[in-house]
Amino acid sequence: MLDVSGLNVSYSGIRALQDVSLTVGQGEIFALIGPNGAGKSTLLNTLSGIVPAQAGQATFEGQNLLGMPAHRIARAGLIQVPEGRQVIAPLTVRENLELGRIASSGRGGSELDHVHDLFPVLAERRNQLAGSLSGGQQQMLAIGRALMGAPRILVLDEPSLGLAPVIVREVFDALLRLNREGLTILLIEQNAKLALETARHAAILEQGRVVMRGVAADLAHDPLVVDHYLGRA
Ligand code: ATP
Repeated sequence: MLDVSGLNVSYSGIRALQDVSLTVGQGEIFALIGPNGAGKSTLLNTLSGIVPAQAGQATFEGQNLLGMPAHRIARAGLIQVPEGRQVIAPLTVRENLELGRIASSGRGGSELDHVHDLFPVLAERRNQLAGSLSGGQQQMLAIGRALMGAPRILVLDEPSLGLAPVIVREVFDALLRLNREGLTILLIEQNAKLALETARHAAILEQGRVVMRGVAADLAHDPLVVDHYLGRA
């Protein structure tokens, strides 16, 4: 569904991604894990049309993403939940959700009911300002806003960041439910344990390069991964 091959991205001559290749299959959760500064956000921002690539290919359902403007990529169905949530604090929960509909390009239907069913707190607080929500509720709102665009693939940047474990569980249970309903998910996470438990396939990015890839459950038992990423989890 999403194919990336040989992707190179630099910022003013400094390499952030080098020869990155990965494939996300229809209907799966794919996790990209790696330490701070590995290039995870850069990959996501390149796929979303925010950061240009110098070389390589990225296709989504057969369409070439590189060079396509960000709004067209979102309309094609690749929709991002950005790091840090980035909800619009002075707007209400409902207004934030409505903003997400812009990306749907007529694909949409009953997204609002679906979002409210998934996160009932967003229905209860529909008239509250987004800035007054807790961090966990803002993460749910950010996911809800992306769902309003009727994504064909949902791409999340560090959805567990800064959240209490019980809220992280709630958010990830919602992602698992969305996946069971058929949604393809690309999950970018520093929490390797959580990511490998959640995903079917995964890749590990270090210093801009994919250093390992495979079935998530296999990676979770790989001694190198355990040593470097799961030891302290
Ligand atoms: P984090 O988890 O901290 O967000 P990351 O894995 O997402 O890390 P990136 O943010 O993609 O990593 O950064 C990859 C590299 O590119 C880092 O060395 C970073 O300093 C550099 N970088 C990121 N954004 C820019 C930018 N706008 N200009 C210059 N260098 C950048």
